[in-house]
Amino acid sequence: MSIVLGAIADDFTGATDLANNLVRAGMRTIQVIGVPGNDFDPGEADAVVVALKSRSCPVAEAVSDSNAALTWLRTAGARQLFFKYCSTFDSTDQGNIGPVADALLESIDDDFAVMCPSFPTNKRTVYQGYLYAGDRLLNESGMENHPLNPMADADLVRVLSRQTDGKVGLLDFATLQQGVESSCERVTELRRRGYRYAICDTLEDSQLEVIAAVVAEHGLVTGGSGIAQALPAEYRRLGWLQPVADAGHLSAISGPALIVSGSCSTATLGQIKHFTSEHEAFAIDPLALAEGGDQAAEAIDWARQRLGEKPVLVYASAPPERVREAQEKLGVERAGELVEQALARVASELVNAGVRRLIVAGGETSGAVVSALDVTSLRIGHQIDPGVPWTETDVDGNNIALALKSGNFGAENFFSRAFEVL
Ligand code: ADP
Repeated sequence: MSIVLGAIADDFTGATDLANNLVRAGMRTIQVIGVPGNDFDPGEADAVVVALKSRSCPVAEAVSDSNAALTWLRTAGARQLFFKYCSTFDSTDQGNIGPVADALLESIDDDFAVMCPSFPTNKRTVYQGYLYAGDRLLNESGMENHPLNPMADADLVRVLSRQTDGKVGLLDFATLQQGVESSCERVTELRRRGYRYAICDTLEDSQLEVIAAVVAEHGLVTGGSGIAQALPAEYRRLGWLQPVADAGHLSAISGPALIVSGSCSTATLGQIKHFTSEHEAFAIDPLALAEGGDQAAEAIDWARQRLGEKPVLVYASAPPERVREAQEKLGVERAGELVEQALARVASELVNAGVRRLIVAGGETSGAVVSALDVTSLRIGHQIDPGVPWTETDVDGNNIALALKSGNFGAENFFSRAFEVL
């Protein structure tokens, strides 16, 4: 059994976002954390998304990790490769989008790929190569102040040209409006003239469908999760992908339910308030952890006595003034670390104690929990709220339903709704 699509994502939540969209478009999808070992079997999956941490690391590391992922995906039989980056084209003049795409093209002995970060549904559009976030140009959207990769230029042809020695052209809006045939001709023309990349304009999702038809048989496609959502229909047209009744079908998992939260985002704080109006919760405090009391053990004992059909919540999430107080006393890093370690221990000991349905709120917190549980792959299930699916994973031979929610995602009733969806 070989996979149809092999994707390389430059960060973890981006990988989940992509995997979620592939499932919604009809592909059975597995997300792996880092490059899997040679013995990893993707089973019946149509798509495998390798989640790397290559967005902001040094160029050489991003290139070598991406190439390792590519080698694995090709061995798994991938018919098309996809390089996923953020819809705001998060990168610096050094990379990593250009250098990684260059390396991937070279590895597959190809000379052309489209760059399509746009996703009109999520208000990311591109016109004449200029990227907009909502109604603002990228460099006026707040992204110009990003701590790691400030985006001070919205002209993606220019941005990418600084990251690669390849020629960068444009698959422009007017051509896309003329349809698939004209767009294919434009791409053929760009290739003939020695262009290595084409930035794709897109103002509406319908143009993503045109682009997908143009690139369906390209060796490498690069972009955000928007264009990926349009690809599965092309794979079905080509006969590569058989329709499945429910690509997000997971095993029925029942058993004790737990939520751990280390996210202090406004959305998560609202979700906790909503949840605690009807359910029990245990609060962890970084200052108490720093004093050396074993609050994690207390939380574990507290939760053990309550594990049952009703979910329980263990959280460190706190409003900005409390977070600031802890950070001033302990330092930002130590406060975060104490909380992450405590929550990871709570999650792993309670999974040992029988928890089978687990929600984790917070990107960093999810990373800590996933590594404490030794999770290396996730089968992607149905979406709970945009960008956040249920997943299924194996922990010590037990099937666990796991939902990893990054801070700002999810509606107010996310925690209770999640268990209803499952
Ligand atoms: P988000 O996805 O909302 O950014 P993260 O888990 O990525 O959430 O980041 C939140 C960070 O804040 C984590 O490092 C976590 O350990 C830390 N943290 C959580 N609660 C507190 C608190 N009460 N005081 C200080 N830091 C906290």
